[in-house]
Amino acid sequence: MPQVVNEPQKLLAICDNWRAQGLRVGLAPTMGALHEGHLSLVQHVRDAGARKVVVTIFVNPLQFGPNEDFQRYPRPFDDDLALCDKTGVDLVFAPSAASLYPTDYQTYVDVGNVTRRFEGEFRPGHFRGVTTVVAKLFNMTGPCVAAFGRKDYQQWRTIEAMARDLNMPIEVLGCPIVREKDGLAMSSRNRYLSAEERQRALGIYRGLRACTRAFSAGERDPARLINLAREPIEAAFDRINYVAIADVKTLEPFEEPICNKAVVLVAAFIGTTRLIDNTVLGEDELP
Ligand code: AMP
Repeated sequence: MPQVVNEPQKLLAICDNWRAQGLRVGLAPTMGALHEGHLSLVQHVRDAGARKVVVTIFVNPLQFGPNEDFQRYPRPFDDDLALCDKTGVDLVFAPSAASLYPTDYQTYVDVGNVTRRFEGEFRPGHFRGVTTVVAKLFNMTGPCVAAFGRKDYQQWRTIEAMARDLNMPIEVLGCPIVREKDGLAMSSRNRYLSAEERQRALGIYRGLRACTRAFSAGERDPARLINLAREPIEAAFDRINYVAIADVKTLEPFEEPICNKAVVLVAAFIGTTRLIDNTVLGEDELP
């Protein structure tokens, strides 16, 4: 079993010791309820040269809104530990909320433009919660290579901007989305779906695929591409937050025919379950 650490100071001491031995440290921050998408991050930091891998499991209250699923978020810690063991993770960091946010806690990290739209618009305060906890995790781990999934595309770009702007000694990796065989992006929140909802959830994949195919066939009009993506999502989902096409780096939407690299971003609800997904046009394969 991997070593389990709860105290922030202890994590830094262990990672410092590894670095002193010349061992590169890899970090995969998660909220637990682990699946193959999470485990792929472990492989990606190893491929990037990490010799010791830390997985953090922390359901961060700061990144949930008042009407979101913080309370019901799955916390199958023993299963997570067994999966980490199987994947050869060296250390699992599972701090308490009180150890990260004591009562006099008062410091936050805010990233600018890249957080304004999409998740930033529909989940006010979400990115502030994410960047604050990730900055803390970076400081508690020290210099390392840290992996983030492109499943949370805007989050990855936000953390990339934070690490660059604040000169953090961290190499940030953006790792490909891991999907189920039928195309649904793996997510801890898929556990909320009934069998019937699980089928309907494929609407997002269908929409993204329709968009990708039209792009490959030469379509460059963002409004038409968005409509193609929306159709199957509207048919299957109960409520759409956004279906948008934006620049891969700035996350500014395109109004003109698409000229730079573009990502299609989707957030929609099935019942009370909110799912997000995305694909980079002309880059990601969606079979
Ligand atoms: P979460 O536990 O949902 O906060 O996710 C932790 C990390 O795993 C984030 O960097 C996610 O982007 C990444 N991740 C979650 N699902 C997937 C997936 N299906 N493919 C790749 N990365 C993922």
